[in-house]
Amino acid sequence: KGNGRGRAQLFAGELGDAVRERRMLELDLRMALLNDTGLELVYQPIFEASTGEMAGAEALVRWEHATRGRMSPATFIPLAEERGLIDMLGFWVMRQACAYAVATGLPWVAVNVSPVQFRDERFAERVFEILAETGLKPKRLELEITEGLLLQNSPMVQETLRHLRASGIRVALDDFGTGYSSISYLRNHGVDKLKIDQSFTAQLGKDAEIESIMRSIIDLGRAMHMKVTAEGVETEQQQQMLQEMGCNQLQGYLLSRPLTSERLAEQFAAAGSP
Ligand code: C2E
Ligand code: CA
Ligand code: CA
Ligand code: CA
Repeated sequence: KGNGRGRAQLFAGELGDAVRERRMLELDLRMALLNDTGLELVYQPIFEASTGEMAGAEALVRWEHATRGRMSPATFIPLAEERGLIDMLGFWVMRQACAYAVATGLPWVAVNVSPVQFRDERFAERVFEILAETGLKPKRLELEITEGLLLQNSPMVQETLRHLRASGIRVALDDFGTGYSSISYLRNHGVDKLKIDQSFTAQLGKDAEIESIMRSIIDLGRAMHMKVTAEGVETEQQQQMLQEMGCNQLQGYLLSRPLTSERLAEQFAAAGSP
């Protein structure tokens, strides 16, 4: 009998530990942002499917934690969203990425934007401020948003996206296929690019149904004047199938892993600016 109670106490204790731990992490992340230490961007190139040339690159954030080592964005992005730090983090990433594109001459840079950042009605203004500060032309910035954002079907989000795109900034729909986007959401909001989720790419050559779904997405993109990128390309077979399907751009470990800013700048300089 007493056993049940003991277990409940143990459970409460563990829960307390988890809460404390998240609070500590939150403080560490706040300090990292305030002091500009430990956070870093890596860049994964995105290639034209038809020519194999580098088209641009996606910025991906990394956090080198003092005691835990390198932390995955999959853990600290949700933390930042929960604790009200995502705006600071998101604009830090955007400023860095824009300045990097200017400094290196990278044709364009893609930045991931959390749906939470769109709650700020001044979001578009702040993006324009960063472009002005860094001197990056709007057409050299791509924002990667997720399907969940469109699903909210919010007039404010719709207006923000319209405002951003009117300036020449491109909007890409990330992880496409994993959410519930419908053609009507796509039409209402307007996006410039679909990024097919890597879980689809991984099934190419293994699952005929996935293959025809991907073909349909690529055809849909063409019909709606959107570019289509496939992410997570890891094998030559996947690359060939995607090229044959008419997918516009490819991204994945086969072509390039995410690179440090120095590595990408070196490679880019060696290849000569396109
Ligand atoms: P994502 O935007 O879908 O980014 C693609 C993820 O897949 C990256 O993981 C990338 O390193 C990985 N990847 C690229 N090519 C391949 C491949 O061929 N095979 C496999 N298995 N994986 C590949 P990463 O860098 O760990 O980022 C995870 C997620 O964290 C991102 O997914 C994105 O949603 C989020 N994230 C990263 N940076 C930021 C950021 O600055 N802001 C926001 N809001 N989210 C970010
Ligand atoms: Ca992305
Ligand atoms: Ca993605
Ligand atoms: Ca993803």
